Amino acid sequence: MSFSRTKLDYLFAKQHGICVNCKTREAEPGKTLCLECQEKSRIKNRRALEKMTEQEKQERYRRNNERFRRVYAERKQKGVCVKCGKWKSVAGRTLCIDCLVKSRRRKDRRYNNEIERNERTEYGLCYVCAQPVCEESASLCRKHYELYAGLMRERNANPTPAMLEHREYIRNLEHARIEQIRERVRNGTFRKI
Ligand SMILES: [Zn+2]
Ligand SMILES: [Zn+2]
Ligand SMILES: [Zn+2]
Repeated sequence: MSFSRTKLDYLFAKQHGICVNCKTREAEPGKTLCLECQEKSRIKNRRALEKMTEQEKQERYRRNNERFRRVYAERKQKGVCVKCGKWKSVAGRTLCIDCLVKSRRRKDRRYNNEIERNERTEYGLCYVCAQPVCEESASLCRKHYELYAGLMRERNANPTPAMLEHREYIRNLEHARIEQIRERVRNGTFRKI
């Protein structure tokens, strides 16, 4: 199978958790876009929706609904989270642990802070709960830093095929970089700083 350059870039970004739009920032967990691009796309969608006729709107809702149902059924059948499709769902539930926590949080007033999530880190506040960040992290409070560090450790101990591929990619990249330096040392073109 051959893909165009753009398609390859898209797939690469998606696979490595990089925003598929700006390709510079980290994508939100379980999403293909970063917070900033998500916000932009939300505004764009809202504007597009405002211009539509009632009939066009109905048609759009119908199509979205259809897609949602199809994806939901597929994921449920596979036993993966129906929301993000990334992780196994918790036994007896349709969501993974991340999405369960998130949905619980949405209903919790403590987390519905007046400072927007994408602005919190600028004020030195936890990206998740808007409490002050801890020393170890630029974007998380101690509680969330530890929670995520634990989750990441668990995931690193049980890597998914995509993660293994990413590790291989990083190893190859590092290998290529070292080879390049060796070559330059051999040629005497290595610049000592
Ligand atoms: Zn982005
Ligand atoms: Zn999920
Ligand atoms: Zn927090």
